[in-house]
Formats: sequence, structure tokens, C-alpha cells
Amino acid sequence: MNKFIGHIDTLLNYDQDKSYDFFTNNDNFHVDLVKMKKAGIKLAVFAVYVESKYKPFWALERTLELIDRFHNLIESSQELQLIKDLEDIESLLENDKIGALLAIEGGEGIFSESALRILYRLDVRMIALTWNQRNQLADGIGELETNGGLTTLGKKILSAMEELGIILDVSHLAPAGFWDIVKIAKKPFLASHSNVLNVCNNKRNLDDEQLKAIAENKGLIGLNFAPAFLVKDKKADISDVIRHIDYIRDLVGIENIVLGTDYDGIDNTPKGLEDLGKLDNLKEELLRRNYSLQEIEQIFILNWLNFFRRIWG
Ligand SMILES: [Zn+2]
Repeated sequence: MNKFIGHIDTLLNYDQDKSYDFFTNNDNFHVDLVKMKKAGIKLAVFAVYVESKYKPFWALERTLELIDRFHNLIESSQELQLIKDLEDIESLLENDKIGALLAIEGGEGIFSESALRILYRLDVRMIALTWNQRNQLADGIGELETNGGLTTLGKKILSAMEELGIILDVSHLAPAGFWDIVKIAKKPFLASHSNVLNVCNNKRNLDDEQLKAIAENKGLIGLNFAPAFLVKDKKADISDVIRHIDYIRDLVGIENIVLGTDYDGIDNTPKGLEDLGKLDNLKEELLRRNYSLQEIEQIFILNWLNFFRRIWG
């Protein structure tokens, strides 16, 4: 069964290990092309995550460095397909390539609408305005106490993103900014790698009102496999992932659930989902728990396709 995943930090692997090679099997990392094929991955969102040490002055430099790395990957392979619009998605479904969509996690490099347009021209198609810190666009989840939402520039950038067709990702955003977005967003948005607060009390997770707001907006919730966001005692297995799926299904329905994973961005993984190549274990466990093949296909790919059609159609 083909699968889309909403957030991987694989571009950073090259910094951790100079010998990392995306195209061969790597035991020390969660994602490579071999594991993607094994898992039936049809599209992955590659995050340009700007680490704290680059902020604020070298954020744009680092953003460009990782975008360059992304394009080097695409250009050195016949097996990857750059995804920029709905036409690309539709053609991807007809071939045997793996789609790669470019995302930015943390908008520290975006100081103007022209900067945003340049990033769009570099094929960025998804942006999370913040990581955990505050920046010139909004407050991240690490700034909970200040209760800060989107800045004036943040609101301008959001409107420009919607006009361009850049997808908004609300993972890592502080709640005040989330609710600003609910008020002003004209298009659906997603939380690419966030779980359920009521199942695991971690500030990176979403409360019921947020989950309902995303569903009403016809957006997506992409599950994060980080044990710290799945269970209290931080030792997770597949059943813990499914507890979050069950909860969202019961609260808002299955149409809004997809997989984010956060592979290569998390230190630990759930038992049975140690790397991307193990993803079919989740399918088997869902089947055992009486999820139908149709429902599993919704989570793995169909909900994504509907979302892209709503945004880009
Ligand atoms: Zn993240």
C-alpha cells in the first residue's frame, strides 16, 4: 500500500555523519531510499529545519544550504520526483517514482514577502512559521507564557503563502498563533507532526479544540512517532501510536488523520517502528484492531490526496 509521510529531517543526516548516503541502506538513520521503497513511500515532505545555533543571523544562510542539499538529492536521482503542484501529484500516481516536497520548519529566514516569493521559486511548498522559539512571524510553543500570536508580518506572510499555494504547517506554533490562524486562514492547513494532548500531555501536542478546528477547516493531523509525544513514560510501541489514531478518529473522524513520523528528527522511536522500513507493521496492527483496508488507505494516502486537491485544485 502506497504511503505519504508529512515530516522527515533526513536532510540533516549529512551534518551528523559525513558518510551518510541517501541512496544506500544506513543502519544509523531512520530514512534512506532503500527504506522508502521497502515501506512503499510514494511521497515524503523533506523539512529544512534551522537549528537554534543559526538563529537569528545565519538562519537564511542555513535555510539556503539545506534547500541546496534537497535539490542536489533530486538532481542526482532518477527515482525522486520534485512535487510543486497538483499536476506533479497526479503524474506521481502514474509513475514509479517517489515524490519529494520541500518544507521549511522555522521561518527565521523570511523577513519579507519578496523573501517568501524567492523561497517559493526555490520550490518551497510548505512552511511552519516557527520552531519552538519566538521569531519575527510568531511565537513558538517554547514561548507559552507570553501568549503571543502571529505578528503583523506573520499575518502578511500567511496571506502571501495562501496566494502562492504554500501549505501552512502549524506544528510547533504556540496556541495564540494557532487561533489567529483559525481566524484568518482562507485555506486548509495541517499540523505535519503533532499528536493528541489528551492522550499524552506534552505541550507539543494538540488539545481537543485544536483538533476540532483543524478538522472543521478540512486540514490534516500528521502523527509524530517521538515516544515523548506518544506516552508519558517515553517508552512507546505501535499500540501507543494507535491510541492517538483512535482518539482523533472518535473525536473528528478518520478523514483528517495522516502520518507525519518526524523520522530522522527524533532520538528514539516506538518499538516496532524503529525506522521507516518498518512502517508496514503499523498497517498490520491497524488491521488486527479492525481498521478496514479502506480506512488504512485513507490514513496512508487518500486523506493527503484530498488535502492537496483542496489546496492546489
Ligand atoms: Zn519539528
